[in-house]
Amino acid sequence: MAETVHKLVIIGSGPAGWTAAIYAARANLEPVCYVGVPKTAPSPVLPGGQLMLTTEVENYPGFPKGVTGPELMGAFQEQAERFGTGIIGEDIVTCRFDRTPFELVTSGGRTVKAHAVIIATGAVANWIGLPNELRLAQAGGGVSACAVCDGALPMFRGQPLAVVGGGDSAMEEATYLTKFASTVYVIHRRDALRASKIMQERFLGKPNARVLWNKVVTDVLSAPDDHGEDKITGLQLQDTVTDEITTLEVKGLFVAIGHTPATRFLEGAGLELDDKKYIRLRSRASATNIPGVFAAGDVADPRYRQAVTAAGMGCQAALDAEHWLAERGLI
Ligand code: NAP
Repeated sequence: MAETVHKLVIIGSGPAGWTAAIYAARANLEPVCYVGVPKTAPSPVLPGGQLMLTTEVENYPGFPKGVTGPELMGAFQEQAERFGTGIIGEDIVTCRFDRTPFELVTSGGRTVKAHAVIIATGAVANWIGLPNELRLAQAGGGVSACAVCDGALPMFRGQPLAVVGGGDSAMEEATYLTKFASTVYVIHRRDALRASKIMQERFLGKPNARVLWNKVVTDVLSAPDDHGEDKITGLQLQDTVTDEITTLEVKGLFVAIGHTPATRFLEGAGLELDDKKYIRLRSRASATNIPGVFAAGDVADPRYRQAVTAAGMGCQAALDAEHWLAERGLI
């Protein structure tokens, strides 16, 4: 029996991946989408991407009353499935773009062949990199990179909590936590927030909001709780201007210091990345340096990183892939 060569494989299942799938499926490209394997540590990663970790999405057009991230991604998936997208719950761990058709190795150890590939693997949360931070994050000790996922847990209710970072994510997470916490401290390494004015104001307008300026976290302090489980008790902070060391009592730490694109599986594949490891695109199109390999969404967009821009890029990538396949007589 002849070996199957897919016309198009899509890697990733956020707004970019699903939109690419909808367009490609409607164009009869019979796309197969590798949606990934859920991961919990060190950062939560779910099929559906970052929106699976978001409660209310208020800025996706078409939803004047808002929509939850998981609902939105569920609808994207349903629409992609309606037109016949194949869905596979594995990661792609290795890409061989030096041969045609391309070969992709799955986390299940299979090799899949495709004439064209769209990479839409998104980006995951960054950590400060302190040993106790990562240890407590992995052990459920009160350290998290996702307030929206973990902030409502009983251990955080009515407690003082900290958010590290000064961008929109930090403001969003901190604002969310004000619903549960006694006080929310935003710890920022400079004296001005990077976040947009509206997001700043939303947080700063809460009665239990505080900002600690010019501070970095140098250690996460912990002690065994009543059940003998190690839980965060506070933070050691260093002032970036005076070097003064202080401690802050908190029962939760939420790290919101940006994201890293999910491109590690592309190491050695010959794909051009920028200095922050985002995929480099050719001008406004979704083409990469490798003909037949396209990219869309946060994995190729260090600038906008919005659900709606990712969806738009997914559409572009599907149209570009269709055009590329047609030009070569592969569809
Ligand atoms: P970001 O804008 O890159 O901000 C990261 C923040 O973390 C910065 O304030 C940065 O400090 C700080 N930081 C970075 N590394 C650090 C370290 N090692 N220690 C301490 N602090 C550190 O990332 P983001 O907030 O995740 O936002 C990413 C993009 O998504 C942005 O374009 C944003 O507008 C968008 N976004 C939008 C919304 C929304 O509109 N609803 C929500 C979330 C995110 P410096 O300021 O000193 O560099």
